[in-house]
Amino acid sequence: MKLNKEVLDEMRIEPGEPARLAKRSTKHVAADWLVHPDKDGKKDHQRKKVAEEDLQEFSDELSTAQELLWANGTYSLLIVLQAMDAAGKDGTIKHVMSGVNPQGCRVEAFKQPSNEELNHDFLWRCSKVLPELGVISIFNRSYYEDVLVTRVHPNLLTKAHEMPDEGPNEKFWNNRFTDINAFEHHLHRSNTRIVKVFLHVSKDEQKRRFMSRLDDPVKNWKFSLADLAERKHWDEYQSAYEEALSSTSTKWAPWYVVPADHKYALRALVGGIIVDAIDQMGLTPPEVRTESLEALERAKVELLAEK
Ligand code: ATP
Ligand code: MG
Repeated sequence: MKLNKEVLDEMRIEPGEPARLAKRSTKHVAADWLVHPDKDGKKDHQRKKVAEEDLQEFSDELSTAQELLWANGTYSLLIVLQAMDAAGKDGTIKHVMSGVNPQGCRVEAFKQPSNEELNHDFLWRCSKVLPELGVISIFNRSYYEDVLVTRVHPNLLTKAHEMPDEGPNEKFWNNRFTDINAFEHHLHRSNTRIVKVFLHVSKDEQKRRFMSRLDDPVKNWKFSLADLAERKHWDEYQSAYEEALSSTSTKWAPWYVVPADHKYALRALVGGIIVDAIDQMGLTPPEVRTESLEALERAKVELLAEK
């Protein structure tokens, strides 16, 4: 099963176009996102069921697609996940990747940088763990934090090597966008396909999720006071995201804005985006050469001859 092209187009930020986050729904996509006509026109609770079935189908497709990626060893896939707190990054990774062979898939999470990391350029720690050919890597946060959280809290930039004496100015941020675009273009030319996903959650929904973390003892551990502090900077984060996404959605590394208020839809949509990215590689099962086929025949004869 494939995600509708219109849905992919709707979620993708066109290169050179503003992201217009404030205008984008956090609840649903406008285009019909399910490709089975028989399931269309259903109500919300039915949509949830359909989305769950779809997620299962995307997971199955992804599992096959990943096997092809691994067997061919000609491309790698980098999935960058960015979002506000409690938007559902962890759950998305868990659900989307369930069923994928762990040998060919890695998840890398980027938290506050260490001193060693701060002593390097901002792309260093991410470039060390890029996927090799045949592998899918998911970046749970990424080098984009260096144009997001640092933009909201410029005091985090004390060690930024390229910063002008007067502090971060427009040129400083634009240079970072230019460097990110060049870095990603370089990766693309080296057969790393890049898909970037922003989980677009509303402020109300974030509050609901924080409340449920506070109310439910089983979820208490997920709540962090730091998240509440960051929530106070909501608008600043939205404008940092607006500018970063608008400046770095390119033909070779597009951004997708995925409505994240409904977890079931979010997960299925992300699954669909990843399946589409692998699909575009046009992979086919590697052909076994005639000599190898003969060797396989001989191996079969040998095994059958065993007593
Ligand atoms: P979870 O809360 O689900 O465990 P998380 O990604 O929010 O996942 P945290 O440890 O809560 O993990 O937060 C990581 C923090 O590190 C975030 O606030 C993020 O903004 C911050 N961070 C990541 N990269 C950088 C960076 N380059 N510079 C400064 N802060 C960063
Ligand atoms: Mg957190």
